[in-house]
Amino acid sequence: ALGRAAVGAWIGAFVEKVLAEEPNLTDLDRRAGDGDFGTNMVAALDHVDAAGIRDRYSPATVFESLSDAYLGHAGGTSGALFGVWFRQFYRVAADASQGLDSTAIAAAARAGLDTIQELGGAQPGDKTMIDAIDPAVAALESAAEQGKNPADALAEAADAAARGAEATAGITARRGRASYVGEAARGVVDPGALVLSWFFAEAAEAAR
Ligand code: ADP
Ligand code: MG
Ligand code: MG
Repeated sequence: ALGRAAVGAWIGAFVEKVLAEEPNLTDLDRRAGDGDFGTNMVAALDHVDAAGIRDRYSPATVFESLSDAYLGHAGGTSGALFGVWFRQFYRVAADASQGLDSTAIAAAARAGLDTIQELGGAQPGDKTMIDAIDPAVAALESAAEQGKNPADALAEAADAAARGAEATAGITARRGRASYVGEAARGVVDPGALVLSWFFAEAAEAAR
């Protein structure tokens, strides 16, 4: 199961990755949106204690601090949706004193997906973060059912999320501001889906 060190490495690397990629994320939202996605990510992540996440916090506190940062400091649709996503990981981690096993990770991701869909109403294929999350959740649930360990489950989820994010370049948007630009969004990867693919990639890396 993923304990304090693995979750710290996972989310610490995720935060660093998103901050380092701010210019690229801004560019993607500029081409298919209103250009504030990178700023919204940085506004949230500037408020987390990166050292605490890596070295001191419990898994529950790691996820709670991310959720609080997104809900309290990021504007835009993504602030609210990332906030509730991390809230579900916090809730599951708070009940998992032995660390996150494959079943717990699948449960958190499923709850996060359901909450984002309740709030935002997006379906797979709408060119949103759902296109990365939905296939990752399917991979996690089937891996958990087969009794796979977190490293293998997360490797499969990361592959699925990366493929899902990549596929958003081939479609136009039906949700969010990218839907306002129509065909101009074709060829542009959805930045929200891309960030979620990094979330799973860093999880797989930390679980190895
Ligand atoms: P805004 O569109 O308010 O400017 P951001 O730029 O911060 O918000 O976030 C845009 C991202 O949010 C998109 O890349 C997409 O992944 C995600 N998104 C937008 N609308 C939805 C929705 N209804 N459901 C899920 N994700 C969405
Ligand atoms: Mg935007
Ligand atoms: Mg905006």
